[in-house]
Amino acid sequence: MFDVIVIGAGPGGSAAAKRCAEQGLRALILEKRMLPRDKVCSGMLLSRLAKVLVEKEFGQLPREVVLANLSGLVLWVPNVGQHKVVVDIPITWRKDLDYWMNQRAREKGVEIWDGTMVKEISANGDKCKVKLKKAGVQQELEARFVIGADGPNSVTRKSLFPELQVSYTTAQRECYQGSLSLPKDYSYIVFPLQQYRPNFWINPKGDCFTLEGGLRELKGEVRSILAVYGFGEQKPLWKDGCINRALLYKHLSSGSFSPAKGNGLLVGDAAGLKNPLNGEGIHTALKSGLLAAESIAKAIKTEKSVSKIYLDEISPLMEDLHLNYAKVEKIKEQINKGPQTLNVLGEAFEESIESINF
Ligand SMILES: Cc1cc2nc3c(=O)[nH]c(=O)nc-3n(C[C@H](O)[C@H](O)[C@H](O)COP(=O)(O)OP(=O)(O)OC[C@H]3O[C@@H](n4cnc5c(N)ncnc54)[C@H](O)[C@@H]3O)c2cc1C
Repeated sequence: MFDVIVIGAGPGGSAAAKRCAEQGLRALILEKRMLPRDKVCSGMLLSRLAKVLVEKEFGQLPREVVLANLSGLVLWVPNVGQHKVVVDIPITWRKDLDYWMNQRAREKGVEIWDGTMVKEISANGDKCKVKLKKAGVQQELEARFVIGADGPNSVTRKSLFPELQVSYTTAQRECYQGSLSLPKDYSYIVFPLQQYRPNFWINPKGDCFTLEGGLRELKGEVRSILAVYGFGEQKPLWKDGCINRALLYKHLSSGSFSPAKGNGLLVGDAAGLKNPLNGEGIHTALKSGLLAAESIAKAIKTEKSVSKIYLDEISPLMEDLHLNYAKVEKIKEQINKGPQTLNVLGEAFEESIESINF
């Protein structure tokens, strides 16, 4: 028997399970992939507080996890100009960053079952039930609480909120050998259509670089913009893609959806908490994961509703989410207004990187 079952071994899941274990709870993480697993992501600890939180919770980032410490972000609107946001950004492969967090959670007593696909959850009443498939065998587990940290396509969310209608966006990633003739200590976000989205990112990754984002929509633009920087006809070393986000901002702001029900709590991308402005999701996953675990400990102590405690705890996060969503809407209106565009983007990104709650 476990006190808490956490679905997903990303940053949200590791942080939540680790904090549960630190509070004396027996925690199990169920992860469908075999670990270590990679994830489509730039792997950057973007906002200042993301790095602070990671190091506070998991210890100093090991050298073998950090590919480089970038000097910042370049916001690039072709034919308009570039704006530099100067900030120290550790960049990683998620395979390494997440596995390091998994190991720190294990050291605290968390059990992790990888290769374990969760199929369905029920979290009504005192006992949560989790149906899963491991090595071809179906099983059912019980726990007092469930934390869904299973990303944007969350099975936990679908089980708890079967009526919720959600649409999704996707992202593609391509990895190329070598580098472009651009300074290698920056990550670039390019807005080729003078719209906020689609956009794409160029990330230096050691002896290679990745292109990420709306590559499908921007195929022609990527080639023509980058041709003068040495991007020719080379083939990627590999490519992949993923569901980028579940579009839950409107549901969250209208109150038609709240990321908790009964004894089931959703964190990170499963809850739709990714920053809509700069795409940062590692920090919000960690933060909401920790708050979920702390809410469970409080609920046990006070016998109050865990969902209510959790929703109160994450309200500052929600406020920032709404604020950033409003900024995105404002940027969308102003992005095709020539040089002013860069000021609008620059100011919004700078604020989002400094932001307190995200
Ligand atoms: C192109 C791109 C670039 C990005 N770049 C950045 C960046 O640089 N910095 C940043 O902060 N954020 C970035 N993000 C966002 C970031 O990747 C996510 O917000 C973050 O990973 C969310 O963490 P999480 O723990 O909520 O979920 P995830 O990291 O997605 O982890 C969820 C886990 O749940 C597992 N899982 C899913 N379903 C099941 C199931 N049924 N049973 C068992 N396990 C399951 C998955 O295999 C996965 O391991 C980027 C996203 C994209 C798409």
